[in-house]
Amino acid sequence: MTLPKMNRVLLKLSGEVLMGDQQFGIDPAFVLELAKEVKAAKETGLEICLVIGGGNIFRGMAGAAQGMDRAQADYMGMLATVMNALAMQSALEQIGVETRVQSAVQMDQVCEPVIRRRAERHLEKGRIVIFAAGVGAPYFTTDSGAALRAAEMKCDALLKGTSVDGVYDSDPKKNADAKRYETVSYGKVLADDLKVMDASAVALCRDNDIPIVVFSIREKGNVAKVLSGEGTQTVVTDHTA
Ligand code: UDP
Repeated sequence: MTLPKMNRVLLKLSGEVLMGDQQFGIDPAFVLELAKEVKAAKETGLEICLVIGGGNIFRGMAGAAQGMDRAQADYMGMLATVMNALAMQSALEQIGVETRVQSAVQMDQVCEPVIRRRAERHLEKGRIVIFAAGVGAPYFTTDSGAALRAAEMKCDALLKGTSVDGVYDSDPKKNADAKRYETVSYGKVLADDLKVMDASAVALCRDNDIPIVVFSIREKGNVAKVLSGEGTQTVVTDHTA
């Protein structure tokens, strides 16, 4: 499907894409490659809000599964997203892209707090705003953070860059016959529990009519391709044309 004309997007990257070929953590060379992708997307004239996960460092659910208090583990996960945001900020500024990090957990010495009007001003000035720490509360994920910021910042779409090139009817890593959807409705994603984003994030996008574009960030040049409608992707939307 052809995407509607977009002026402002929210780009969500899973934390795991920052680890490159490593099993854990941040690979600065790989983050730099990602930064170049983000820069290319910005050069198409878009305003970009960025949300980065923390799964390459720490996920609250994993900590809880090992006996930690869930809320405490989630705070650690939120801090992981701030580390990733700072790594991305550093990479983007290395290639001449101005950025600001705004964290939902206040950290005055390190970055700004989330202030919508201030974020608006940054975007107007051509800066990329990286929103860290998700929604700022435990029991949520950065997918929900991405959906929330996409709604709050009135983004035209939420682009979810991940390791797979779209939404499949079953796990393509386990089932060779898995089929990728070109478009799929929010309702189907929720009813069939398709692995796109968590349910609260999908519901928030549905309620605010924000299309979710799922694509692979591992393929070079793909963000720009997806934006021009030439890439491989799945669009989650209730509009079929
Ligand atoms: N997290 C949280 N609240 C939020 C966002 C994130 O508690 O609003 C925590 C949660 O523990 C989560 C971790 O931060 O597991 C890392 O985020 P996420 O799992 O979304 O990262 P991704 O899977 O995108 O790399």
